[in-house]
Amino acid sequence: MTEKLVSPLLPHIQGYVAGRWLTTKGTSASAVHNPATGQLLASVPSTSALEVEQAIEAGKLLLAEPPSLEQRSAWLATIATQLQTHADELGRIITLEHGKPWREGKAEAVYAAGFFKYCADNIQELAPRRVDRGARTDSWTVYHRPAGVVGLITPWNFPLGMIAKKLSAAIAAGCPSIIKPASKTPLTMIALFTLLDRELTFPAGFVNLALGSPSVIGKVLCEHPDVPVLSFTGSTEVGKQLIEATKHRVKRLSLELGGNAPFLVFADADLELAADQLLANKFRGGGQTCVCTNRVLADASIADAFAALVRTRVAKLKVGNGLDADTDIGPLIDRAGWEKVHAHVTDALRLGATLVHGPKATEPEGNVKAFYPPTVLGKVNAEMACWKEETFGPLVPIAEFGSEAQAITQANDTEYGLAAYVFTRDTARAERVIARLQFGHVGWNTGSGPTPEAPFGGMKESGYGREGGLEGLHEFTEVQVVTHP
Ligand code: NAP
Repeated sequence: MTEKLVSPLLPHIQGYVAGRWLTTKGTSASAVHNPATGQLLASVPSTSALEVEQAIEAGKLLLAEPPSLEQRSAWLATIATQLQTHADELGRIITLEHGKPWREGKAEAVYAAGFFKYCADNIQELAPRRVDRGARTDSWTVYHRPAGVVGLITPWNFPLGMIAKKLSAAIAAGCPSIIKPASKTPLTMIALFTLLDRELTFPAGFVNLALGSPSVIGKVLCEHPDVPVLSFTGSTEVGKQLIEATKHRVKRLSLELGGNAPFLVFADADLELAADQLLANKFRGGGQTCVCTNRVLADASIADAFAALVRTRVAKLKVGNGLDADTDIGPLIDRAGWEKVHAHVTDALRLGATLVHGPKATEPEGNVKAFYPPTVLGKVNAEMACWKEETFGPLVPIAEFGSEAQAITQANDTEYGLAAYVFTRDTARAERVIARLQFGHVGWNTGSGPTPEAPFGGMKESGYGREGGLEGLHEFTEVQVVTHP
């Protein structure tokens, strides 16, 4: 079944190298499907290893004369404006290839614009800095040079948001880039390149788009000596493969990997607020975000009351096609995503969890689509798969703790360290608990995620490096210090 995606932002379904849309058919093509309907949206030709190398060569030539900070700032501001202007259409493309509700797709385009605007506004942070009082009588100047041609690899769950964090910082640093989007959602990135090609005056080779085979493109980016920095957002499993593949090159990696976010609710918390925030946090993107709650940990004295508040709210959520205005939760990205959520629910119920909300039997025969009903489980424990692994779907597993110390131990009981949330009215407790949580992002009485103004990134196996904020602005710079009499 085909429902070819027609959009003014998609006149070309191709990669983009050295300032031109590729015209070759590629060695193979990958199919992009609408997860809500199962229909084929587009067939995307893959970019060859040779074309990726040509992109790197084109980018390398530009390093001889990096653009001025003023030029970079102007480019960044233009991109921010373009994303805002085209938020509706970009949001529609995101919905069609990812499945999330259209309003979330539009919000993602606006969120993405925020990263370009932040970098445009703060570009002077990268201006040379004079150190007046050196250890000796010499003068010292600190330069933030472009690190080189950079590889940017992104996942499917935020087809625009994730590249915005990387590309904004790469442009700010003056780095040419080779971008590899996820094969399940490349159309949003192609639409972004339509805007870059049409509305900006980038020199040829400053931004390049490589589509298709992760092993072909990944191999070139990992092994090429002229790509000194690789920035990756995706699973911890692939992140580890990139560490292995680059170990002989001393390449700088920035890794934004998986999460297993705990949501701690203490007995003194505002339970209504906590339930509202949990819903907003948990079901964005159908529960397919790295920062969304994976485990709720509630004080045993209020766990049942909190579960009841969550159940009332979850019961009102509507699952459906993201293009329908009243849809709260779209489909999962594919049937494999559905199978994983289902396996976690089945495993937990087998090991003694209680079904607080959700269907009793969830295995519609012949269902090739990926809609999963939002499900709430109680009496969850550390033996269950949903405690140990990232579920990436609309499941709320609620476990109980008996003391503050136990809550901290349970929250940290994961190899991941990306996001955590703490609900308590007690400021001293919040400070005590948060200081002991090994997570890079912590919400106190809020389920909010990252923002362009603040650095975001993980601890432990959630990776290293930071995106957003002043720290993120330095992700693609190389510091050079010049001292002179
Ligand atoms: P993934 O399977 O790791 O893929 C991510 C990207 O890497 C895709 O573009 C993929 O290409 C590419 N890739 C796969 N194997 C590669 C290789 N050997 N060399 C180079 N590139 C390779 O992750 P995903 O399923 O798309 O995304 C979900 C994961 O991302 C979750 O674990 C989520 O927590 C994590 N995530 C983390 C953050 C964060 O900020 N920490 C944000 C969002 C998502 P193909 O699509 O062509 O396979």
